[in-house]
Amino acid sequence: MTISLTTEVTYLKGVGPQRAAKLQERGLRTVEDLLLYLPFRYEDRVHFTPIAEIVPGSLCTVKAEVLDGNLVRFRRGGQQVYHLTVKDGSGKLHCRFFHGGYLEGRLRPGQRMVLYGKADADPNRPGRTEMVNPEFEMLGENDADSSEVGRIVPIYEAIGNISSRMVRRAIFQAVTNLETQIPDPLPPALRERYHFPSRREALLAIHFPAATDNVETLNSFRSPAHQRLIFEEFFYYQIAVALRRRTASRQTGIAFSIRQDRIRQALKRILPFKPTGAQKRVLGEIAEDLERAAPMNRLLVGDVGSGKTIVAFEAATIVIENGYQTALMAPTEILASQHALSARRILQPAGYRIDLLISDLKFAEKKAVIERIRTGEAQLVVGTHALLEGDVEFARLGLVIVDEQHRFGVLQRKRLMEKGQQPDVLVMTATPIPRTLSMTIYGELDQSVIDEMPPGRQAIETRVTSEENLARVWLFVREQVARGRQAYVVYPVIEESKLELKAAIAEYERLSKVEFPELTVGLLHGRLKSKEKEEVIEKFRQGKTAVLVSTTVIEVGVDVPNASVMVIEHAARFGLSQLHQLRGRVGRGADRSFCFLVAPRKMGNTARERLETLVRTNNGAEIAEVDLRLRGPGDFFGTRQHGELGLHVANPLRDFQFLEMARREAFALVDHGPDGEDLQRLIKSLGSEWQRRYQLATVG
Ligand code: ADP
Ligand code: MG
Repeated sequence: MTISLTTEVTYLKGVGPQRAAKLQERGLRTVEDLLLYLPFRYEDRVHFTPIAEIVPGSLCTVKAEVLDGNLVRFRRGGQQVYHLTVKDGSGKLHCRFFHGGYLEGRLRPGQRMVLYGKADADPNRPGRTEMVNPEFEMLGENDADSSEVGRIVPIYEAIGNISSRMVRRAIFQAVTNLETQIPDPLPPALRERYHFPSRREALLAIHFPAATDNVETLNSFRSPAHQRLIFEEFFYYQIAVALRRRTASRQTGIAFSIRQDRIRQALKRILPFKPTGAQKRVLGEIAEDLERAAPMNRLLVGDVGSGKTIVAFEAATIVIENGYQTALMAPTEILASQHALSARRILQPAGYRIDLLISDLKFAEKKAVIERIRTGEAQLVVGTHALLEGDVEFARLGLVIVDEQHRFGVLQRKRLMEKGQQPDVLVMTATPIPRTLSMTIYGELDQSVIDEMPPGRQAIETRVTSEENLARVWLFVREQVARGRQAYVVYPVIEESKLELKAAIAEYERLSKVEFPELTVGLLHGRLKSKEKEEVIEKFRQGKTAVLVSTTVIEVGVDVPNASVMVIEHAARFGLSQLHQLRGRVGRGADRSFCFLVAPRKMGNTARERLETLVRTNNGAEIAEVDLRLRGPGDFFGTRQHGELGLHVANPLRDFQFLEMARREAFALVDHGPDGEDLQRLIKSLGSEWQRRYQLATVG
């Protein structure tokens, strides 16, 4: 049977409905999807290391047969170690598998297998070499199944109970029967310039490289096949970005006037403090965009506490003075309410009318707000996703501001934009995105960066501590409170669960009764009604509450400069960027601030590295880099956003040079004229996939 890229994986031999369902869960429905599921590693099974020639300390692949194996149980701790001895023509090799109980009875003498791992001197038997927990794969009766040995073999991440070997077999079947002609959207000129293989050649070579290929090049994702697939993924998206930029620069949006005295005065009047140099510069960039007829499309990056809000309010002021409305969308009700409160404090005295729209409003109130938005009476509308609902119509929407934009899907932003006619758009983020990624994700946005903190800020002093030390932490909290400061204590969950994590409600009870009987303790979590949350935060802001026990709902939006201590329990459970955001709730005033990360004495390397990064630095950009490295881009942005961008093969971090290359080439191609033959052919062969990408690029 000939297989095409659109063939569904169910039709592959050995896949069947159950496995097909598992594959589909992972987004692998067609043969094309499957072929874009790349090996994470390659193993040289042409050149096996003879056992007698193994050098301790080296990584090696051995082909051998089972001699014998037995399970050893330790009485203490119930640990099980499986000891295996294998042999090849040159000698014998000993292997140990910790937690190897599952191997008992599975390996029989004479069975053939391939083992891969690091060989080491056996500490128990001088002179003997062993492998500890090697990866292994059983082989068939003979080497006829050429997908397994006698070649450079791809190793895949297992998918549920579908092992690497089963994935390999399905892919092997697909590539060996793949139709001879498959479309190649990449312009031939580019292919030649970079010596890229055709798409078909690339897909074949990436899964089943020639026996003569260099394994190291393959393992570093730099074979010509890798280069091509990585390049093209970036390239298609960058084409969409380039086209979109071109269109945008020709669109007519609103040219706001900024040079009248009245407006200058208004901008000065609302400022509650002297802006930092960075805030001034950024506002200048935004004002220039607003003045221009083409719609603004700008990303404002600034670390937690760097003062983005006032910049947003200044932009809103320009827009309102020009007779237009501004919509400010935030991801949580807390953040939206807090923005509305600050707006009322800062903008209302100047006579601007502010409304808050969240789902948790009474029916009549909500109706009234929506009506004021429709008539234009509401000049600054702050809200959550509720702003996106169909019945929300603006009279004259001139500016869309999205705060903490990484919490929104790109399409949500677009929905809000469509409520006006080419409104200007400002998106703000406190997740300082490494440039690598911002180029991928926000390819078409201009960027402004607030790289300076308001004056007088001191670095937050961060310490990792353990449960056993909590008494001292509480003592410290009491001391700080005695000096007039306030503290946050954060827990990962609301109610106690099986996970044995301390839960906010229970700990609130305990802290208020046992640890801090003499202090006022507040409790904040996501299940409170909006009004209740607001009240809790307001009391804390006014200093009526000394200690605020909370879940992560305070992650964004709570701004109480007098709070100087942050205690985060179960800190190892949180992501790095999230911890940085949480910590950013303190250090907002001129006082020394402290953050205690409570974590087990023993923890995994990644968890430790996360916490130590926070101890080492307060710099959000640096923290984001580490976070990205530890988690990979998929996780960093949530798999959904990553998938939305159509990145299967490419990793913006690892493949940055290809991203830059793709961007350059894409812009060059589009500048040649969007009617160019290559471009048209490319768009046509990407088909519906193109529509999706372009739509995404449209909203950045
Ligand atoms: P973020 O960038 O995290 O949204 P905010 O806009 O909430 O930061 O600002 C953090 C705190 O710093 C707020 O209390 C704000 O009033 C204060 N702030 C911002 N800019 C300045 C400034 N130039 N001078 C003094 N305080 C400032
Ligand atoms: Mg903010």
